[in-house]
Amino acid sequence: MSQQPSPSVLPRYASFAIAIPLFRVFDYSIDANQPIQPGIRYRLPFGKGGKVGVLVTTSKTTTFNSQKIKPALEALDQIPVLSEHILELARWIADYYLQPQGEVLFQCLPKYLRSAQQQKPVRVKVWFAETQDIEARDAITRRSPRQDELLSAIEASSGLNAAQLKAINPNWHGVVLALESKKVIRWQWQKPESVEGGLQSAPGLNSEQAQVVGSMLEKSTGFSVQLLDGITGSGKTEVYFRLIESQLAQNRQVIYLVPEIGLTSQLVERVKARFGLRFAISHSGLTDVRRYQAWEQFRQGDIDIMLGTRSSLFSQGERLGLIIIDEEHDSSYKQEDGIRYHARDVAIKRAQMLDIPIVLGSATPSLESLNNAEREHYFLYQLTQRPTAYPPPQIQLIDTRNLKLDTGCSPQLIQKIHQHLKANGQVLLYLNRRGFAPVVMCHECDWQSHCERCDSRLTMHQSVHRLLCHHCGFAQPIPSACPACGHADIKHYGIGTEQLEQRLGQIFTEVPVIRFDRDSISGRDEFAARLQTLNKGEPCVLIGTQMIAKGHDYPAITLSVILDADQALFSASYRASEHLVQTVFQVSGRSGRGRKQGEAFVQTGFPEHPLMLSLTKQPYREIAETILKERQLLGFPPHARVIMFRADALSLELAIAKLDEIREKLAVIASQAGIDCIGPIPALMTRRIGRYRAQLCIISGDFRQLRRSLSEAMPAIENIPSTHSVKWMVDVDAHDL
Ligand code: ADP
Ligand code: ZN
Ligand code: ZN
Repeated sequence: MSQQPSPSVLPRYASFAIAIPLFRVFDYSIDANQPIQPGIRYRLPFGKGGKVGVLVTTSKTTTFNSQKIKPALEALDQIPVLSEHILELARWIADYYLQPQGEVLFQCLPKYLRSAQQQKPVRVKVWFAETQDIEARDAITRRSPRQDELLSAIEASSGLNAAQLKAINPNWHGVVLALESKKVIRWQWQKPESVEGGLQSAPGLNSEQAQVVGSMLEKSTGFSVQLLDGITGSGKTEVYFRLIESQLAQNRQVIYLVPEIGLTSQLVERVKARFGLRFAISHSGLTDVRRYQAWEQFRQGDIDIMLGTRSSLFSQGERLGLIIIDEEHDSSYKQEDGIRYHARDVAIKRAQMLDIPIVLGSATPSLESLNNAEREHYFLYQLTQRPTAYPPPQIQLIDTRNLKLDTGCSPQLIQKIHQHLKANGQVLLYLNRRGFAPVVMCHECDWQSHCERCDSRLTMHQSVHRLLCHHCGFAQPIPSACPACGHADIKHYGIGTEQLEQRLGQIFTEVPVIRFDRDSISGRDEFAARLQTLNKGEPCVLIGTQMIAKGHDYPAITLSVILDADQALFSASYRASEHLVQTVFQVSGRSGRGRKQGEAFVQTGFPEHPLMLSLTKQPYREIAETILKERQLLGFPPHARVIMFRADALSLELAIAKLDEIREKLAVIASQAGIDCIGPIPALMTRRIGRYRAQLCIISGDFRQLRRSLSEAMPAIENIPSTHSVKWMVDVDAHDL
């Protein structure tokens, strides 16, 4: 008979992480008959109501007043929702990024589990045929062709699920109900089947790819960071696929992160063709339940590949053997609200903790990663050729000085588009401005349409007859007369994608003009229909924002154009030139991937600007080296680290005062040599969504020293309250200054 432990050795208390912006955990008494492993969710009494907390540690004693301590209510899980490993990773994130542990832990969970929702196994209904008498079967064949169709399909299969039935008949549900009532079919729950991969065979690798895959496979176990720097269209995806195959063959799982899955639904198709259903997809376009299901399937080991965006990084799989970060330079890996972290950097930490390799890939690697490769922290692999017929196009400038532009397009550009369409090519125009026109104003009194809540202009959106703020969503009807002086003649200036689409539709009447941006793709079906046109490879004009800049591979595109790059030349952000160069190489790299040489143009009013000139003459790496040197001279990242304290408040004074308080606690740090403490100053866009924002920036070339000093100062800072009227937050490795 097993002996019960005596009550005195049982833990009586536990600390819980709760998703609130406080830098501490909360102690409750616990009942040892309930599951008490770390990572189990409990319902907890909290304040006047309740909250869900994740158990992080148990103990026999508590430092809190044990008279006042409350008992935790019931456990929500039998098995922990967070594994030991993810709990440890979350602790690292909280520590490195100076974020509240509770919020970090909840960030690591799929949204669905952040409330009191029960964990549930992922299962699907599958319909099977019943044995039946011949007469009943005959009657169906004779009288009900639609029932006969579905029944025959079910009979011929080993069970069909809803998706499969829907593929046969979009109105399958009623038919299936009828068949059920005739008792000729029945259903049962099953795990979603995961068809073995290898449906589509792999193309042979060219010698460069083969070499890279060969040496990467040599490091397929143990921690290493491998940077794959391959020009656009050089077949990086194929390299990832080979690495994935190798992992699957060793019964390991892979996390494959991409910046977004929109146009990249093309990637989803490629993964499906290659690996069957051994993967799940997770991105913000899916419902919370769907994302949870993907997470659950990966955790159960029912699938081997998690293909997703930023937060999919936190997928738990016991057999995880490799992490791939595609387009590693992309800024969407940096989370800019709530918990601030960089998914690429967290992924590297995760790989290190698990002692597995991580692959970062890009045609335009971030300066951080290039710097790390130069210092031999990362292994660097290069792909310098396209396996298809032609190299990426040489970038050319169109000088728009002294030209009359038609809706932002120079005559030369219009002619180029004609030429490419005539040759059956597809044309891609990149314009990173949604809406019809960014400026609306009155010439009588100089009135301009400004947002009531932000320091920004309202953009005119003609399709919805509104002026919209792109920062807070504020909307108002387009006024028919000047709201200030009543003058009837209000004018709009500047070009957005909506206007460009309208005008090009008038000029190029023979082909579809397709727009991809956040406004145009709201309907899923419409989005799919647009992709169809592209997929068919027929001539068309594609207009879009950053959404069309990355990742996709449409071989019929032969002309890429960056319409308006000049803004970036005068941006206040120190990252603007890096971003511009990356965008230009990414957009131009969409061109000429098929059987024709592509062309790429940048329209600019500053063709003599050194950066513009370098785009036409130098490969990405060389330009990146130059920018890296400039950053070194200026003492900017990646040669220095930035920690930014931010505050937003009901008034600018309140925000500044809060940061003054923080600065005081940082006084020791600020006085140290090599650490610059700048601010508090108003943020670039001071008013946003009705709140005033300020910032306090700490820059240092010696990150270790900075960390040491910060960990001394943080406990005092963590106690500074954040309220509705003044909120403060900290952003480690901040992207803007
Ligand atoms: P990247 O991810 O580097 O931009 P992709 O992996 O999308 O490039 O490859 C570009 C195109 O080249 C794709 O259509 C892909 O199918 C094709 N491709 C890749 N590798 C090979 C190869 N070894 N032989 C022939 N075609 C290839
Ligand atoms: Zn606004
Ligand atoms: Zn006016």
